[in-house]
Amino acid sequence: KEWCRSIPKIELHAHLNGCIRDSTLLELAKVLGEKGIINFADVEHVIRKCGRSLSECFQLFDLFHILATDHGTISRITKEVVEDFAADEVVYLELRTTPKNNETKGMTKRSYMKAVIDGLRSVDALNVSFSNSSERTENISSSTQNNYANCMERKTIHIRLLLSIDRRETTIAAMETVCLALELREFGVVGIDLSGNPIVGEWKTFLPALKYAKEQGLSVTLHCGEVSNKKEIQEMLDFVPERIGHACFLDKDDWEKARVLQIPVEICLTSNLRTERLSTIDLHHFANLHKGNHPLVLCTDDTGLFSTTLSNEYYLAAATFGLDQKDVLRLATNAIEFVFGGSEVKKALRGIFGDSARKLAE
Ligand code: IMP
Repeated sequence: KEWCRSIPKIELHAHLNGCIRDSTLLELAKVLGEKGIINFADVEHVIRKCGRSLSECFQLFDLFHILATDHGTISRITKEVVEDFAADEVVYLELRTTPKNNETKGMTKRSYMKAVIDGLRSVDALNVSFSNSSERTENISSSTQNNYANCMERKTIHIRLLLSIDRRETTIAAMETVCLALELREFGVVGIDLSGNPIVGEWKTFLPALKYAKEQGLSVTLHCGEVSNKKEIQEMLDFVPERIGHACFLDKDDWEKARVLQIPVEICLTSNLRTERLSTIDLHHFANLHKGNHPLVLCTDDTGLFSTTLSNEYYLAAATFGLDQKDVLRLATNAIEFVFGGSEVKKALRGIFGDSARKLAE
């Protein structure tokens, strides 16, 4: 377990508000309870619980939506989430979040994203590199000798952002999110995700926005086959997204299509188990995909919601499917090829993982 923690890792499927620390969630929920906005007693046991059911997960998502109406809170959550991933030796994090409008709180999708970016800038214990246009470190405020020395001592984490379209949204709202993503490219936004309750909404609602995103050069990842829905899965694969998430309910033909198209799969073991997409972990499609050398990457989905870490996901895969240290490091290294960040960041990551491979060989 400690070894899985110590190696560098790449996280490509993490929802910002699903990664809130339990302690922060409790603190924020308590304040909302005191203000009479929520009934704290209703949510306290769900927050404190380890191993939440699917319906409890969506109950918590509703709470996240209430919490995420305050710009300061969003910046704080972002900062903490980045710190937590870095502490788990994540060297590249693609963080996804659903920009939210809330007129009564003076929040627009744009101001929500500004709060996220402010959160990235406020991380002072790490070098946070999130710019697309240059690979320079973003949170170095001045170039004094002192700062330079501090910067050399601190860990670096590369961050890119994906904007999520919630399946509850309309075509126009989805298009707004894509336009915002295009506007924010210089702040590390590299792509679009489609997520939210998988039994809500229809694929054709989001297609115009997703097509536009693709045409404009944004990368697209889709939550695909989280529930059984043959028609939607086929249509999603025909769209040829650059990655798909979960893929729990693909049948033989779907997998053949995914194999021919070589679409990388974001695998979230604990999440799939907790949300009852399968009965036991050893039945997970990871086994077949890994055996067949299908492009895949291990991810957490929601570290807070599912009480997990990326190193825990690697450990779980190794323990369940009999992977040795070499296999695990190869798996972690392969993820470089599936990141939405550009060639510069990939080069930096190859250097980091190359060092780890050399250490393992010694
Ligand atoms: P946010 O986008 O930062 O607010 O992160 C939380 C949101 O991510 C939730 O409200 C859902 O829309 C989405 N999400 C998180 N986990 C899952 C999942 O397993 N399936 C589908 N959507 C998810």
